[in-house]
Amino acid sequence: MALHLPFTLRESLLAEARQGAPDEVCGLLGGIQRGQTFYVQRHTPIPNVAATPQVRFEMDQAAMLAAIFAFQRARIDLIGIYHSHPHSAPSPSPADLAECAWQTVPYLIIGYAATQPCLAAWRIDGLRLTHLALI
Ligand SMILES: [Zn+2]
Repeated sequence: MALHLPFTLRESLLAEARQGAPDEVCGLLGGIQRGQTFYVQRHTPIPNVAATPQVRFEMDQAAMLAAIFAFQRARIDLIGIYHSHPHSAPSPSPADLAECAWQTVPYLIIGYAATQPCLAAWRIDGLRLTHLALI
């Protein structure tokens, strides 16, 4: 399984994560799925309304619905959820695992362990964690 992330989208996500720090930023990825590969075509930032946005994310419901409708109008699918870890590696935190609402959708995490940005994509299926190749 793989997540195809074009260079310009990758750069734009890294910039968004940098600007949002020290809070986690979050949003939705729209695109298409072909076989085992998810092709990201756009990302839509969603306000993080968590009470402690430095360590977790919770997407604003209204903005999330608006983004999903916009994807539908553009005839693309919701193919991923992204968020940032301003001070740690791009691996799902215990909170991410516990609060993962959409188990069929890939999770893209932008991490900043040792200040170096690093992206990783995951599928969180209950207790099973699958690493997706980023291509
Ligand atoms: Zn997280």
